[in-house]
Amino acid sequence: MVGGIFLRCSVDLCEKIPFRLDVAVLAGKLRLERGSPDFHELSSMVDLAVRVGRPKAAYVEAYVEFAADGEVVIGGISFPGRLLTRNLGGAGRVFPYVATCGVEMDEVAPSDGDILKAYWWDAIKSELLYAAERFFRDEVKRIYRLGKVAVVRPGAGDADIWPVERQRDLFQLLDGVEERLGVRLMDSCLMIPNQTVSGILYPSERSFHSCEVCRREGCSSRRADFDQEMWEDTRGG
Ligand code: SF4
Repeated sequence: MVGGIFLRCSVDLCEKIPFRLDVAVLAGKLRLERGSPDFHELSSMVDLAVRVGRPKAAYVEAYVEFAADGEVVIGGISFPGRLLTRNLGGAGRVFPYVATCGVEMDEVAPSDGDILKAYWWDAIKSELLYAAERFFRDEVKRIYRLGKVAVVRPGAGDADIWPVERQRDLFQLLDGVEERLGVRLMDSCLMIPNQTVSGILYPSERSFHSCEVCRREGCSSRRADFDQEMWEDTRGG
């Protein structure tokens, strides 16, 4: 934390987020045969999720107050890391956020200790998280009339790019977010519910994906090619 007058507003909540769950699509992703007992089980889980699911997000409008090599200051809190300086340094206004599938999904988790059912329920939670993050992104773009945006997330990419431990700084910036969203940031920096993400959204003509600064080989979830030059440029800090 640094001294001074901090340029950040109060935390805004996105609640009553609409979401749609398509059993057939989910079953396809989970490789369940349509009409099978497993398909029917998944279908009842989807019905339950539709009844209880409350995806949510919280964000704050804040300004990059200072940017120098290896550090930006947002809302009075210092965020070390050359990736942040590189991506946020010229952004001016940014939107730190937390999005979640919602604690309600953990309160009714219907797996009964069955690993397979727990996996299916987690896949449903992931759909709710996706809906929450998409809603937040669209809402911020609409309210603040933003064009293209990009997101950086602590812990994504190589460990030393923006370490997951820095998530604590993000939670500090989002004053009261744990109480308001019901999420918890553990000592390990894992979040509960597990289908929760945090990050900083910022206006940018250039898209950015953490995979560009991640050297993990053979990752089936990779969504962008590794960028050696960017990786070298963003290490440390
Ligand atoms: S390559 Fe895989 S592990 Fe690395 S950031 Fe992308 S999805 Fe995550």
